[in-house]
Order: sequence, then C-alpha cells, then structure tokens
Amino acid sequence: MTPFTTKTLEEALTAKLMLNFGKAPDEATDQEMMKASALVLRDVMAIRGVESHKKARREQQKQVHYLSLEFLMGRSLMKNAYNLEVLPQLKEALEHLGFKAADIFELEPDAGLGNGGLGRLAACYLDSMTTLEIPATGYSICYELGIFKQKIVEGQQVELPDDWKNLGAAWLLPKPEEAQEVRFGGTLREFWDDGHLHIVNENAITVQAIPCDMVVAGYGTKHVNTLRLWDARASHPVDMALFSRGEYLKAAEEEAMAKTIARILYPEDNHYEGKSLRLKQQYFFVSATVQSIARNHLETYGTLKNFHEKNVIQINDTHPTLVIPELMRIFIDEAGMSWDEAWDITRQSVAYTNHTVLAEALERWPQSLVETLLPRIWQIIQEISARWQKKVEEFYHDPTKTKKMAILWDGEVRMANLCIAGGIAVNGVSGLHSDILKKDVFKEACGMEPWKFQNVTNGIDHRRWLSEINPGLDGLIRDLTGGDEYLTHPAALRKLDDYADDKTVQARLAAIKRKNKEDFAAYAKKTQGVVLNPDAIFDVQVKRLHEYKRQLLNVLHIISLYQKLQEDPNAITHPHTFLFGAKAAPGYAVAKRIIRLINSLADEIDHNPICKDKLQVVFLENYRVSLAERLMPASEVSQQISTAGKEASGTGNMKFMMNGALTVGTLDGANVEMHEVLGDENMFLFGLHADEVERLKKEGYVPQRLYNRDPVLQNCLNALRKGFRDGVSYEDLYQRLLFGAGGSPADEYLLLADFASYCQAEQRMAETYGNAERWNRMSIHNIARSGIFAADRAVAEYADNIWHVPHK
Ligand SMILES: *Cc1c(COP(=O)(O)O)cnc(C)c1O
Repeated sequence: MTPFTTKTLEEALTAKLMLNFGKAPDEATDQEMMKASALVLRDVMAIRGVESHKKARREQQKQVHYLSLEFLMGRSLMKNAYNLEVLPQLKEALEHLGFKAADIFELEPDAGLGNGGLGRLAACYLDSMTTLEIPATGYSICYELGIFKQKIVEGQQVELPDDWKNLGAAWLLPKPEEAQEVRFGGTLREFWDDGHLHIVNENAITVQAIPCDMVVAGYGTKHVNTLRLWDARASHPVDMALFSRGEYLKAAEEEAMAKTIARILYPEDNHYEGKSLRLKQQYFFVSATVQSIARNHLETYGTLKNFHEKNVIQINDTHPTLVIPELMRIFIDEAGMSWDEAWDITRQSVAYTNHTVLAEALERWPQSLVETLLPRIWQIIQEISARWQKKVEEFYHDPTKTKKMAILWDGEVRMANLCIAGGIAVNGVSGLHSDILKKDVFKEACGMEPWKFQNVTNGIDHRRWLSEINPGLDGLIRDLTGGDEYLTHPAALRKLDDYADDKTVQARLAAIKRKNKEDFAAYAKKTQGVVLNPDAIFDVQVKRLHEYKRQLLNVLHIISLYQKLQEDPNAITHPHTFLFGAKAAPGYAVAKRIIRLINSLADEIDHNPICKDKLQVVFLENYRVSLAERLMPASEVSQQISTAGKEASGTGNMKFMMNGALTVGTLDGANVEMHEVLGDENMFLFGLHADEVERLKKEGYVPQRLYNRDPVLQNCLNALRKGFRDGVSYEDLYQRLLFGAGGSPADEYLLLADFASYCQAEQRMAETYGNAERWNRMSIHNIARSGIFAADRAVAEYADNIWHVPHK
C-alpha cells in the first residue's frame, strides 16, 4: 500500500526539485521544497485517480457529486502524507535533505475556501467518501482569495486579503480541455422544428469555466477522488478587430465578468446578502458542474435517460439550488426530453441538506435579478413553481399553506422551497435540527411528502481531528484499544470506557494534555506574543462570531468572575484562562463590536494585578483550520453555548470532545446527541431547552425584569455599559440587551435568561477541575464516546439512506 520508503521519497523530492526549479536540495528554498513535496504526493494521487476513474467507468458505478460553494480544506501536505501512510517517511526524507519538516508543513497556506462549519463539513465528507471508496467528486469555485485574514489592531478586527494560490496552487491540476461555457443574460428565441418547441439563448455573455482539480487521497485505500474547483476565463479575448464588428463592448463585458466571478469568497456565515455577483457565482459553478457531469455521463452511456440511476447530486445548503432548473434545461433544451420525463429524472437526482433555521440566512433571490441574469432558468423556475403550487393547492386547499410552500412569492424566488419541490431528500444535520425542520420550518411540506425528510447528524474527519493533530492521544488510544482499528472503525474508541477509572491511564491522559497545552503556549508566544499559563484551565470558545452563538454570554460571565475577584481575591481557586477565536463578517457591525469588547476586557484583566495567575482572557487572531488543529489537542473546556434551537449541529463541539475537552453547553444541535451518550454526569449542561425558548418568546420576554431582579447580572451589564480601562464604552451592546436596537428585539438570543444557569455550570466545571481524578475520568468517557461523530458514520448514512451507493 505504501507508495514510498524514506529513500525513494528522498529521490523523488530531489528529482522534482531539479526538474521543476532547476535546483539541488541544498540550493532549494523552503518554499520550493514545500511545492516539490506537494507535487510528489500529487503525482502518486493523480496516478491512482486515473485508476479509480477507470474502475468507476468500467463497473458503471453510481457517482456521488457533492456541490458546495465552500470547501474549507485547510492544509493538505501533512494530511495527504498521513492518508498515503508516508508521513513518517516524508518527515525523515525532509530532514535527510537538510530541511526542518515542521517548517515545511508550517509554510503551507490554508486553503480557506469557506467560512466555517459548512465548508469544513464538505472537506471532512470528501475525506470520508474517499476512505469509504465511494466514487465521488466535490465541486466548488477556485476563489482567488479565500476567507480574509484577520488582524487585531487596537482591539479591532482588520481584514486582509487571503492570497493563498501562490503556494496553495501546487495541489491543483488545471484541465483546460474540460472547460465548459456558461451563459448569462441575453434574449430567448423560440421556434418550432420537427414538432418540437426549441428555445435558444442569444446574445448572452459567456464565461469559460476551467476545472482546476485537487486530488484527494483516502486513508487505507488506493481509492482517490477529486475536488473540482472552477476557475473563470473570458471566452473571447478583447482585441481591436472586434471593435469594427461592434462586438468590442460585449467582449469587454465578458472579460470583466470573468475577472470578477471567481475573485473572492463571500465572507458571510449564516447570512444571506443578495448580491448579484453572488448569484453569478452560484450559476457559474452550478452550470459548469452540471454540464461536466452530463458530458461524462453521455460519454459512458450515450443517453441521459438513466442519469438518476448513475448519478446523485448532494447540495450543501441552498447555495447550489440552481442545479435543479439547470438539469431541466439540459434535459429539455439539449437532450430533447419532455417536461415530465426531465422532471422525473431531475427529482430523483438531487438531495438537499439544510444547514440553518435562522430567517436571515434563508436565500430569497429577487425575481427580476434571476429573470435578467438567467432568462431560460427563470422560465423553468416559473413552470416548476406553477406545477408545485397546483399540487399544494390540490393537497391542502389552504391558501396560507400555499403561501408558505410557494417557490415564487412577493417578487422573490425561495430557494429552500425549490429544493424541497425538486429533490428526492431533505435532511437536517442533527436530531434536534431535523425535528425542528419537520415540525416547524418545513412543516407543511413534510405533511405532504413526509418520506423526503431525513436526519443525518454531522460528523468530522477523526483521522485529521484526532490522530493526525494529537499524536500523544493517538498513541494512548492505540495502546489501549490494541492498534489502529479506530482509524477505520471509530466505534472502537468505546473500548476506552473500560479504562476510565484506571489511575495510570488517567495520569497518561493528563500528561498528554499538559504537553499539548505547553506546545500551544509556545506557539501562542511565538505567533502572538502572549504568555499563557499552562497551569490554568484552558476554557475555549472558537467559532464564527455570531450573536446566536453567544460569545457575549461568555463575556458577561467573565465580567462576573472579574467583579467577584475584586471583592474577594480568593474567589478563584484555580487559574482560569479564557481563549476566544472568531472572525466577524466584515459588514456585521455588532459582531465586530463584540470582538472589540473581548479585547477591551482582556486588556483590563491583564492590567489588574489581582488577576495575576488567576484570570486571563486572550483573543486568538485569525481563527482558521490550521489554528484549530493546534488548539483542539490543548483545550480542556469547550464552550458550546448557542441559544437552544439555533445551532443546526455544530462540528467544533465534536472536535473538542474527541480531544478530551469537557463541554459547557446548551441542549442545542449535536450537543443533544453528545448528552445522549454522555449523560448529565459527563458534561456541564445549562440553560433553556429549545421548546422553552419558543414558549418564552411567545409569552413575551422582558430582559429588564431579569436585570432588576439579579444584582450580579446588573453589575455585569453596568460594567459593560461603562467600559474598561481603554475608555471604550459598550453602551450600544447594553442597549441591545435591555431594550433592543435596529429592529431587533431586546436580547434576541436570551443571554439574560440563561445567565444565572450558565454561571452555575461554569462553577460546577471549575469545581470538577479541582478533582483531577474525576476530570480525567470524564475526559476519557468523552473520547470513548465520540466515535458516533466521525464523518465516516455520517457519510455511510448518506450512502445508505439517501444516495443508495455501496461503500466500504
Ligand atoms: C470546525 C470549524 C468551525 C465550526 O465551528 P462551530 O463551533 O461548529 O461553529 C469553524 N471554523 C473552523 C476553522 C473550524 O475548523
């Protein structure tokens, strides 16, 4: 299975350096060596990719196509070496050639083609699909700039462009011969021929979509899959000859479109912006993808009539919804099918994953924009909508339900309803979230077609998020479970449960965590200049900054601890370090204010001698996959404190649990399933449940009453209002919590309602930390029971229940 020994790898690296850069190893820079390493591994994977592809064709296997506007891949060098089982050999070969392996790995930029959980999920699933030997392809856009780099300047977030392709492109294999043409705008001309109505799109702006393929290796298999990233090029280079023919302007327009379309990833997470460039990106990516799938299918089968038997398209949220009308367009306009036949095949080919119930995240495109940008797609959506509406009316005879389920309403195209109408399956991403979809958000659709609605609880690539990044813990697990079985059978982690009371195992786990904390402290010192106390509790909240995720609740609790400490310097018995990491969408003013607040509070606490060796707050700059990989193994407390009912699943929660951190959390998203396997005794639950949140909101929630009743809360809010030693007042956040602002109600996410309960949970946590034996036992149970959150389990469920494809 292993494609290299240390020696053959050294030879391959040397040859690659000479061929590509004209240099011997002792002349090459770290950058050149990083690229050479990527190219050597890419070569092996590309060869295996050809084999995987041939096999899928020969055996006429059903193909999975995973469409996502985001793939948050992070770094690939260590991951690919790990999956190819040559990581030790690569490290050795690099050292033999005079390089520091750690420096080479550290040089690789993150491929940050995503915002957060949704994009990272796609990356984890690609790994599992490959490891489970499912013939699958991921599709996205080859953004020139990924998610912005975050700097903190005077306490505030500053965004810098993420120019990742300089080094990151070493993994990409451009395939210009497989380019597709995507059409925008223009006019439709209809004519009858041969008894058929034909529709052609004339005078359209066309853009070339060029595939840049990233090969992905699975673990313990020679199977290889591809992530196909579409880059944009102008179809007609602008030249003066066009001028005289009156085509100059159109060519210039095409060039402008091609230049902007793949330029940048939109940095909003869980938020719909409605920008026309975003719709262009969506159609560009969808049209290129569907054309490429259809072309490959035709090459193998010579017909599209069996398309649904040999292909399934999974769409990650509604962003790729246009696959539905695009498939219809190809089946009808290009393959000459009737509407009914085309609809039958389309509906059986597409499945939709919902990722949020937040109203502000639901995509509703203006009809006028769709009509001018995509005239033929608009016609098809109108027809789908009319037929769907008729079906709904005949089923319910209820205008309010017709309105709720409508695809076109009030001048908008509702993408989620289009997905429900045009797909074979709709799934939520945790048990609670899927229940909310069925009972609330999509209640009417579920009443009409209950068989479509499913749950697949999210999962993470446990090889990356445990084995690869936490070698100490990986070693302990191998010792206790008798080898590496858990890498391909994550349920084997359960065996650790038997050692929960074993003092020597507890001590080994504690030593591993201690070492990881020291390593992280050294990294934080080197990169950010902060000094972390490895004796302190590492209490961590890292995720996108969003009001529903309630970083502000964490802050309020820290303020309460700070005030307690002023009254009684012995109020904190064990040093406690709160670590935050979060990017805010550049246009999300409140989120940016919360980042500034965290930094103001960190500064205040830093300058108060009472807090020394007791309380510390640190904001970690530029939270991203490679930072998460360093942080998870060092974390002890995982903050998962969203308002119940708002976090669809969460995946950060799973990464922490797998690395032995204990959760302080609400019964939200996948925390509910964590609680099912852990029980009350192995996590620190607090707060209102999802149904209680709904009830409280219905009854009328008045946060001022809590303010008036609870002096601790009152003092915290007053301190927030006044601000800290840097002189910045947070009156605006105070107003938002007590009275509401800018159209949002007072304390929309119920921070005040959960405050007392949260403080108690943190207190239980700190007391438990004081009992090392108890803490380590809980930590072992957490690791042991985290196997259900492996992406392998989630992908197997998709394969069995939605895609109907075989897997390893
Ligand atoms: C896992 C991950 C997330 C998702 O975190 P949640 O806590 O589930 O929101 C976001 N960003 C990065 C970089 C991640 O690795």
